[in-house]
Amino acid sequence: MFELDFLQILACPACRGHLTLEGRESVAALICSGCSLVYPIQDGIPVLLKEEALPLQSWPVGRGSVVSRESSIA
Ligand SMILES: [Zn+2]
Repeated sequence: MFELDFLQILACPACRGHLTLEGRESVAALICSGCSLVYPIQDGIPVLLKEEALPLQSWPVGRGSVVSRESSIA
């Protein structure tokens, strides 16, 4: 896919928060830990545009994986 190192130099364009990689290989996205916006990754390239970002609740893959992971911890 792509180098994970770049995550360390990227920040959320909306709030400058830290971005985390979530999702599966085919449907991955970067999620902001600050404002919970989801930035889709298209063809291996993260689309870091506020206009293209989705709320976490509107991202089906994220909603499933995040909820299940949190519930397994709790
Ligand atoms: Zn943010």
